[in-house]
Amino acid sequence: MLWKNLWGGSQTLIFPARPAEGKGFRGQVRFNPDLCTGCAICKFRCTSRAIEYKAGKGEFTWSYDPGQCTFCGRCVEGCKTHALSQDAECPPLYLTIHELKEVYTVARKAPAPKPAPAAPPAAGGNAESVGGAQ
Ligand code: SF4
Ligand code: SF4
Repeated sequence: MLWKNLWGGSQTLIFPARPAEGKGFRGQVRFNPDLCTGCAICKFRCTSRAIEYKAGKGEFTWSYDPGQCTFCGRCVEGCKTHALSQDAECPPLYLTIHELKEVYTVARKAPAPKPAPAAPPAAGGNAESVGGAQ
């Protein structure tokens, strides 16, 4: 084994070469502002503070810094509107801090109109019987 390790060649890759991604690889998080409701759940699920959220008047600011991201996927799993997804490739290389940070200012969407309550059945109309025939 010692002989093999000594003469087996380098087991590491020379920068900027990177290993191939496997199936289910979790890469950089992508944000779709059209699907985002501004609930901020992703910010609270992100323990590495890669996601920041700031509420404003009629809008909110959402940002993501891949340089702080551990690519755990918890934000993507917690987003009920599927506004977040993850790349299947390695994130791009970067040389300065916050270089890949993305900041979005999103206008708050108007709440969906509530459905009108169902009209009560007309008096004297045919009421359906409850239960089976006896
Ligand atoms: S990305 Fe998803 S979890 Fe994050 S604020 Fe928008 S809707 Fe909420
Ligand atoms: S993948 Fe994990 S570390 Fe990266 S932004 Fe989402 S919750 Fe935070």
